[in-house]
Amino acid sequence: MNQLNKQRLEITIETHNVTIIRTGGKSLSVFCHRCQSNQTVFAPAQVASFFRLTVEEVCSLVETDEFHAIDFGRDAALICAGSLKNLKNNVFPHLES
Ligand SMILES: [Zn+2]
Repeated sequence: MNQLNKQRLEITIETHNVTIIRTGGKSLSVFCHRCQSNQTVFAPAQVASFFRLTVEEVCSLVETDEFHAIDFGRDAALICAGSLKNLKNNVFPHLES
């Protein structure tokens, strides 16, 4: 009879489509009029690097309403995190793993 000394472990890994963008501890929450709720916002450069886009591409996505730009009185508008889902679902479906 074959005896196994080692217990067999079955590990189930469930994958969820969760997008985490690390901001180095600083996250800013601003009311987005488009989402009608407070949303974390990111600088266009952060969004660009996360999605491997150029800042120009991020700006054009703001112009086409894929991203919500929130004017926060800084040099550039900030991007509403709620609107990042629009890009993931509609523009780059291959990002869904
Ligand atoms: Zn929004």
